[in-house]
Amino acid sequence: MTLSRRVTVLGATGSVGTTTLSLIEASNAACEADIEVVALTANSNAKELAELAIAHRAEFAAVCDEAAGPALADALAGTGIRHGAGVEAVIEAAMMDAGWVMAAIVGAAGIQPLLAAATRGADIAFANKECLVCAGDAVLAAVAKGGGRLLPVDSEHNAIFQVYDFERPERVRRIILTASGGPFRERCRTTLAGITPAEAVAHPNWTMGAKISVDSATMMNKGLERIEAAYLFPTPKEKIEILVHPQSVIHSMVDYVDGSVLAQLGPPDMTVPVASTLAWPDRIPTPVEPLDFAKIGTMTFETPDEERFPALRQARESLDEGGLMTAVMNAANEVAVEAFLNGHIGFLDIAEITDHCLASARPEGVSTELEAVLSADAASREAARQRIARLNG
Ligand code: NAD
Ligand code: MG
Repeated sequence: MTLSRRVTVLGATGSVGTTTLSLIEASNAACEADIEVVALTANSNAKELAELAIAHRAEFAAVCDEAAGPALADALAGTGIRHGAGVEAVIEAAMMDAGWVMAAIVGAAGIQPLLAAATRGADIAFANKECLVCAGDAVLAAVAKGGGRLLPVDSEHNAIFQVYDFERPERVRRIILTASGGPFRERCRTTLAGITPAEAVAHPNWTMGAKISVDSATMMNKGLERIEAAYLFPTPKEKIEILVHPQSVIHSMVDYVDGSVLAQLGPPDMTVPVASTLAWPDRIPTPVEPLDFAKIGTMTFETPDEERFPALRQARESLDEGGLMTAVMNAANEVAVEAFLNGHIGFLDIAEITDHCLASARPEGVSTELEAVLSADAASREAARQRIARLNG
């Protein structure tokens, strides 16, 4: 039976977005699937978005950045593809009639389009982890209201999803979230100060967007993933453990009360989890090479180090504190990572800025209210910007 879907890709020009579109193209070409692309969105890269929209015969293309609107209109002139610019246009894309929506925008900027797609009941292939970290309660409420499914794309969460017994969550002893450890796993803290953006984005196992690559280098990515796992799976947060596994072959594990540990393994290629969410609960072939275990030879494991990688502590503590603190942490980290990528602060300043914002935050309201989340996010961004200005002062 051919897989038939109408799909929208939010964040189509990014690493996960283009992986998704390549898989769709290959699946259609191999007659494994009959997938129609409804809408594609990007932030400001109008040229690439237009090329993707033409190649995939999308119905609608939207850029978030209004300044990129005229370039998108030019690039799509005469194609018959409808287009728009601005946040509202991205939300409109999410609202269109597609049963499966890839949420692959980076950062909390993806919240409103994600909520729009979830509320109308689309199945959400969920990559945009910052949305759960920032607005987990609102996202889960929107999914419940819409009645669609939340299918994790993040490789660790996709692995857990594949082996988690949702009918007997009380039989889960712990979730073991594996981490590659990033490019600086073996570096001592003092040598981390001089890390450049180019060094930080060169991940040993995965090719990804710039922000998540820096998060992997600081290990904030694993911190965000701990929070993501706490929202996605009905296992108490204390039972989520992080384990460093530098080879990135085991993508995560679930340990059951009888001593059985179930894991999902695969090559470090996002095509695999994307395919899993596209076909779920079925499976489709992908062009990914089978794992060669003899070539891998050895798999090793280490305890994570919260001293060298304070982002792990920040995420654990803000999850424990609960409420709006994970939103505060996420916003501070987003601003700090951007400043690092732009050469305005050093690598170790990222954690320093996040600690500062967490210590000074006084968020008001509750995490179930989107307005409170957005204002905690905005206040933390402002505190981070002021801190950066002072560091550069
Ligand atoms: P990326 O930077 O390569 O792409 C991000 C996409 O979002 C682009 O299409 C960009 O145009 C769009 N975008 C950026 N800012 C926007 C804004 N303000 N409004 C609307 N659109 C905006 O990022 P990526 O590596 O593809 O990651 C996307 C998400 O998936 C992130 O949340 C990341 O943590 C998560 N993720 C990525 C990977 C990976 O392998 N890359 C793995 C797991 C999870
Ligand atoms: Mg991951």
